[in-house]
Amino acid sequence: MDAVTDLLEPASAATLTGRKPRRRNRFELKLDEHGLELTRSRFEVLQINVGRKCNQTCRHCHVDAGPTRKEMMDEPTARKVGAWILRHRPKVVDITGGAPELSDHFRYFVETGRKAGAHVIDRNNLTIIETRPYAWLPEYLAGHEVEVVASLPCYLEDNVNAQRGDGVFAKSIAALRKLSAAGYGTRLPLTLVYNPLGPYLPPDQDALERDYKRELKSRYGIVFTRLIAITNLPLARFAQDLQEQGKWDEYLDLLANSFNPATVEGLMCRNTLNIGWRGEVFDCDFNQMLFMQLRKEKPLFLWDVTPDSMADLPIRTGFHCLGCTAGAGSSCAGALTASGPGPTGPPAATPGFP
Ligand code: SF4
Ligand code: SF4
Repeated sequence: MDAVTDLLEPASAATLTGRKPRRRNRFELKLDEHGLELTRSRFEVLQINVGRKCNQTCRHCHVDAGPTRKEMMDEPTARKVGAWILRHRPKVVDITGGAPELSDHFRYFVETGRKAGAHVIDRNNLTIIETRPYAWLPEYLAGHEVEVVASLPCYLEDNVNAQRGDGVFAKSIAALRKLSAAGYGTRLPLTLVYNPLGPYLPPDQDALERDYKRELKSRYGIVFTRLIAITNLPLARFAQDLQEQGKWDEYLDLLANSFNPATVEGLMCRNTLNIGWRGEVFDCDFNQMLFMQLRKEKPLFLWDVTPDSMADLPIRTGFHCLGCTAGAGSSCAGALTASGPGPTGPPAATPGFP
């Protein structure tokens, strides 16, 4: 087995290697236990992962992104994606990476999405704004009324630097001030993203938002629109950390034991199409990282499908899906329910892992 299939339980590993699955995966068994089925709902969100290049190398990055990664969408692919957006007019165009702004086609996607009438999201790591070539971002994003969704896993400096790298917190605060000056957090939507620093579930999202709002305002004068809390899925660097710390089984059990059936209806794979830098379609960014393409035999590209032709295709799952259904649930838009069963972890101020 290679590194990817090592991370999967037998059913998913088998689908990756093309063998007949031997048994249902742990996530599917949970669905069965509750008499639930995971099916697509109406298509709304096109999430474009433009590539793996990033100016940071965070500990828990599920994309394994970094400055030396070369995989980025090329011009012909970007144009085909743009034509699809204009034809099918998704409600939301969500641009991610890596650092999506490093793509030569970032502005093309923003402007094409807006032209198609979509709500456009930039998943921004904040530090990119502090690099000289990208200092134009706050004004540009504000000018196109793009929602900025920015990672800030804690309001305390040491915790952010432990997860995202030395100096990241100070740069993030400087960038947030620039976004504020452009109207973000007041006139324009600024969403901050929390993810746990260790192998536990996020605390209550609303309570955490209140803490963030109070602390960021009193310490730095920063205001923002909302906070979303995302569970770390056991993939890529976070999976490696779990294995190195001997916490793999414990974390998987935590996710499975915290399964919340009320989250299934809101899972993002139900209304989202995610595409990779070559334009191939996935159910979500996590499945993309596991190379779980929609069609096992040969990749489906965005220009091969329409929202209607996708409607009956099954969603591909693995044990990692338990990260989306644990506790209050987790998606690119944060928690899926107000609260859920199962233990949540320490507050954001708790020292990281490791
Ligand atoms: S900023 Fe985001 S994409 Fe870049 S390394 Fe960190 S988590 Fe990964
Ligand atoms: S990991 Fe992806 S496919 Fe699995 S439940 Fe979450 S969003 Fe859906």
